[in-house]
Amino acid sequence: MEEWTAKLRSSVEACPLLGPPSISMLEVLVGYLGVVALLGVVLPGPSIAGAALEDKSRLTYKCNGLASLVVLIAGLGVGIRTGHILPTVVAENGGQLCSTTLAFCLVMSVFVYLKGCLSQSKTASLRSHVTGNILHDWWFGVQLNPDFLGLDLKFFWIRTGMLGWFLINLSVAAKQFQNQGSLSLSMALYQAFSAIYVLDYFWHEEAMTSTWDIIAEKFGFMLIFGDVVFIPFTFSIQGWWLLSHSVKISKIAAALNLCIFLFGFAIFRGANKQKHKFKQDSKVVIWGQTAKVIGGRLLASGYWGVARHCNYLGDILVAFSFSLPCGMSSPVPYFYPAYLFTLLIWRERRDEARCCEKYREVWQEYCKAVPWRIFPGIY
Ligand code: NDP
Repeated sequence: MEEWTAKLRSSVEACPLLGPPSISMLEVLVGYLGVVALLGVVLPGPSIAGAALEDKSRLTYKCNGLASLVVLIAGLGVGIRTGHILPTVVAENGGQLCSTTLAFCLVMSVFVYLKGCLSQSKTASLRSHVTGNILHDWWFGVQLNPDFLGLDLKFFWIRTGMLGWFLINLSVAAKQFQNQGSLSLSMALYQAFSAIYVLDYFWHEEAMTSTWDIIAEKFGFMLIFGDVVFIPFTFSIQGWWLLSHSVKISKIAAALNLCIFLFGFAIFRGANKQKHKFKQDSKVVIWGQTAKVIGGRLLASGYWGVARHCNYLGDILVAFSFSLPCGMSSPVPYFYPAYLFTLLIWRERRDEARCCEKYREVWQEYCKAVPWRIFPGIY
């Protein structure tokens, strides 16, 4: 029993994502949030009209996430060169930063919940959807698009989480470089794949404005925690893992890994792009032919003619490619693909129910034309 307790204690102590909250990490977090908010306000970027809400109103989103990322990285570069910022600060304080961010999210979710409950607004974005079940309302949120000082919290929060993931990865890479003077092939692959994914996300940030989180999910603890704790700290587990485990992979394995990433990425990006273009122009040309449309509203060609959520398939393959560089010795680095797989299976069911209700017989017709949900020929 004693041996088991000692083992547990040592693995907990070794876990880079466990640690007590601290004031210094709160300063880092608040500083980071302030800078991302400021960059979002001052930097130029296209203003994109969001999806029409229940009351036919539309919110406008300033899509300057990529510009924010570039300026942030340039600023950090200057800070590092002048000795004001330590590139490894996050990698060395991952546990403290993670628990501090969690505590911050808890406080923020209560604030957002109370503000939402008190809202007198009748607009679709700010109307209060109180069910009376406090736990449910706090978890799922009571307002669709709450704002703070004019900032759309939901759009800002997901941006903060994706940028945070990128910055954690950079810090972890800096730490490995400091420890061993170079990046391992495994670390380089993970860093390259995840960097491409994040850069692509910001390159296509305007497509975010039509995703489920933005158009349908209310802003409660689930999104507050999910965007800023879960995304940056668990999506980066592979990087943390490679920091403390030496994994040697052959060039052939690396090439195969690259193929899986490219294949998954092509499906993921291609499918999301096709739907986005279709929403703008239903006569769009897809794979060389004018889009096949069902009931005048649903796209049934390209990836959307192969499976009803091919974009989820692509995302799952990409997630696996992030973990494969870590080898097969432990399930820990496979947390992200396992989570994403579960989430997307559940999400597809929820989206299916929503679309069934929204499109009714048109959706039934679409299901007949495209019977596969996510994995063609399997599911
Ligand atoms: P989708 O982008 O697939 O959006 C679903 C919506 O698209 C539906 O509600 C419907 O909305 C519309 N739609 C569905 N089928 C069709 C069709 N055939 N033709 C036209 N419109 C259609 O889902 P998500 O927002 O869930 O995901 C977006 C991306 O984000 C995905 O690639 C997903 O993998 C990724 N993602 C990643 C996560 C992560 O943690 N890494 C988490 C969640 C998502 P409407 O009412 O507008 O028609």
